[in-house]
Amino acid sequence: MIRRAYLSIGTNIGNRHDNLQQALKLLTKNPAIQLVAVSALYQTEPVGPVQQRSFYNLGLALDTSLTALELLDWCHVVEQSLHRRRLIHWGPRTIDLDIIFYNHQSLTLPRLVLPHPEAQNRRFVIQPLLDVCRDDSKTQRQLELMLKQTSDTNWVHRLDDQGVTI
Ligand code: ADP
Ligand code: MG
Repeated sequence: MIRRAYLSIGTNIGNRHDNLQQALKLLTKNPAIQLVAVSALYQTEPVGPVQQRSFYNLGLALDTSLTALELLDWCHVVEQSLHRRRLIHWGPRTIDLDIIFYNHQSLTLPRLVLPHPEAQNRRFVIQPLLDVCRDDSKTQRQLELMLKQTSDTNWVHRLDDQGVTI
């Protein structure tokens, strides 16, 4: 069974463009994942109390035969391959891969909550995903509503000429 999932990727350590490119390359090395669409590249203001460099963010649509938990495990493999350090909560990171939606499913497990519970508080998640849901009106409506209702006022800039490809 093939299911549609939406991922949000962010980075603010090292070469942010390269990190995203590497993450995409590794993510799609899994034969059970077919990339459907990649958003434009976005530069975004860090959310939260920690002073840090701006982030680069992407939204992804993919089709997969992995379960949600298998997809989460694979995201962690990708994060670890890119030497992600988890030093400071809310702090800088080489790469962060979050599952935002999986097959329109709601789920609360100790290590996986769907839809991602912070998505509605993060303009940097919502905005890029709007680029990649054009064939999925249900998700599009959900994201448009989230954008309208979010209280997040941090800036999100679309970097038009620097798209990430695989
Ligand atoms: P954050 O993404 O909130 O900045 P982390 O990437 O360190 O922080 O994630 C912490 C934990 O969040 C992960 O170990 C993972 O098990 C859990 N988690 C819960 N729901 C999700 C989700 N939808 N996508 C990704 N991780 C999730
Ligand atoms: Mg994460």
